Amino acid sequence: MPVQLRFQTGLTGADYVTREAWREARLLRCPLHPRGGCRFARHGTYERKRPAGTLIARWYCPQGHRTFSLLPDHLAARFPGTLSEIERVVVTVEQAKSVEAAADALRRDPVTLANALRWVRRRLRLVRALLTIVVGLLPQSLLGCAPTVAAVRARLACPQVLVALRERTQVHLQALARPLGFRHPSYAGGEHPSDFQQHMGPDPPRRVG
Ligand SMILES: [Zn+2]
Repeated sequence: MPVQLRFQTGLTGADYVTREAWREARLLRCPLHPRGGCRFARHGTYERKRPAGTLIARWYCPQGHRTFSLLPDHLAARFPGTLSEIERVVVTVEQAKSVEAAADALRRDPVTLANALRWVRRRLRLVRALLTIVVGLLPQSLLGCAPTVAAVRARLACPQVLVALRERTQVHLQALARPLGFRHPSYAGGEHPSDFQQHMGPDPPRRVG
């Protein structure tokens, strides 16, 4: 599984596809070997099923046997779809009488209520755990904030909090869980994934042009 890095695009999923923005992704130095000499090179793209037509730019370091990819901000990390789709599910639950009512409202035939419930609960569990951590990581803006999308939206005065939090938690993304952070799902914690993080600095790769 590639190491994911943030690709700050400011684009929606549709615009990213229309503009083929992965062509503009740049990773000038190997995150493992910033001084070079490792034959670090562009390594094509890989496809995400949704939004349809989404490609992700990829690089490979032969010396470190590591693949890197630049994940645009609108996409969920190590999870299908976009951050705003996931956020919409969680908000629907927050505004519904129950998780069951939200799952029923979100499901489309022929999806059963049981399957829709599982689908909703998976997203809800991930986002609630993330928001609880993020509130602690950002005391200046979120001290005492409830770990809900509605509360974080109000605090940040922002309609799309997961995308906004990709930016605000930038330095923590390698340690944070999906769908916001880039941590490998099987990574159990304990060891600090700092071998490349220290070289990435606070400035994410940006879209050029
Ligand atoms: Zn390298």
